[in-house]
Amino acid sequence: MSDVLSFIPLASPDIREADIQNVVDVLNSGMLIQGQKVMQLEHQFATFANTSHAIAVCNGTATMHMVLKALGIGEGDEVIVPAFSYVATANVVELVGATPIFVDIELATFNINSTLIEQKITSKTKAIIPVHEFGLACNIIEICELAKKHNIYVIEDAACALGAHQNNQKVGSFGIAGSFSLHPRKSITSGEGGIITSNDQALSVKLRQLRNHGIEMVEGKMVFEEAGFNYRLTDIQAALASSQFERIEDTLAYKNELAAVYFTEIKNDKITLPFVPSDRNHSWQTFHVLLDESMDQARVIDKLKQNNIGSNYGAQCIPAQKYYKSKYNLNYKQDYRNAYTAYNQGIALPLYEKLTKSQIQYISKIINSL
Ligand SMILES: *Cc1c(COP(=O)(O)O)cnc(C)c1O
Repeated sequence: MSDVLSFIPLASPDIREADIQNVVDVLNSGMLIQGQKVMQLEHQFATFANTSHAIAVCNGTATMHMVLKALGIGEGDEVIVPAFSYVATANVVELVGATPIFVDIELATFNINSTLIEQKITSKTKAIIPVHEFGLACNIIEICELAKKHNIYVIEDAACALGAHQNNQKVGSFGIAGSFSLHPRKSITSGEGGIITSNDQALSVKLRQLRNHGIEMVEGKMVFEEAGFNYRLTDIQAALASSQFERIEDTLAYKNELAAVYFTEIKNDKITLPFVPSDRNHSWQTFHVLLDESMDQARVIDKLKQNNIGSNYGAQCIPAQKYYKSKYNLNYKQDYRNAYTAYNQGIALPLYEKLTKSQIQYISKIINSL
C-alpha cells in the first residue's frame, strides 16, 4: 500500500537504466548534436507515423513555427486554431506575424468543432492548425476535406498525440505536416524536443535548411539559402527519446489499461469522463475530466492535493488569456463558451507509465468522494 501514501504528481517521466545508458553512450562518443541518434529518432517517427519524412528539432513549439515559416505564412494571413489548447498553438501564428482565428471546441472531446470551421474561412485563410487535444485524435479526416475544398494547409498539432489515429491512420500523417513534442509531460521525452512528420518532399528539404541557419550543402560547400533558425536537437536529447521509443507500443498499451481503470472506478455524477468517438483512439497523454457547475475547480485541485494527488486545469481558453483578449478584443465568454467551460471546469488527472493500477484506484476513490 505504500505506493498510495506518497504524493502522486500529475506527471512524471519514466526514465529507465537503458535510456540513461543510451545518453551516456552519446557523451562518450563526442558527437553531441544532430548525429546518429537524431537520425535514428527521425527514422523511428517516420516509420511509426507512416510518413516519408521526420525532422527532429529543439521543441514542439519550434516545429510549428518552422512549418508556418517554410510555407510562407506571415503578415496579412489568417490561421485557424482551436480556442482551447496549450497557448503555443496560437503563439506560433503570432510569431510569424499572422493572425490566429479561434474556433470553439466540442465539450465532449475537447477538440475543435469541425462544423464551426467553414464559417471562419476567408480569402486570407492560409492554414488550419487542428490540435489532437490531450491525445485524442480530432476529426482530422473531415478537417482535411474542408481544407482541400478551400485550398488551405493543415498542420496537425499532435504535440500530445503520439499513437492516436482516426480510421486506423496515425495522426501526423494527414496534414502537410504533423507536429510532435518531446516535453516531459508527453508519452516519450527528450527533456526538450520536437518532431515534424511530413509526406511533402519539398517542405521537408526546406525544414531541414531552416533548422540549421538556412544552410544547403552544394558540392561540399555551405550555401545560405534562407535566414534560418538554429532549432537543432542534440544527440544527447535524441538518445533519451529514441531509447524510450523502442517500447512505445507497450507504453501506449499500458496507458490505455490505466485509463480503463479510471473508467471502471470513477462513479460520480458530478464528473464527466472523456469521450472517445468510435472511429478514433485516445493516446492518453492526459486524462481530462469535466466537473459540473456545482463544483469549484480550485477547490477540487486543493482537495486532491490534501489527499496526495497532483492535478491541474488541462489547457487554456486561449482567447481568455491577457495577450489575446486585449490584442483582438475578444468576447471569450460568449464566443468560445465551450473552451471557457473546459478551462474553468476541466481537471487533468495523473496518467503515466510509472503509475500502478492501485494508484489509479486510489485516485478514483478520492474522486468519488468529491
Ligand atoms: C506540449 C504542447 C505544445 C508545445 O510543445 P513544447 O515542446 O513544450 O514546445 C504545443 N501544443 C500542444 C497541444 C501541447 O500539448
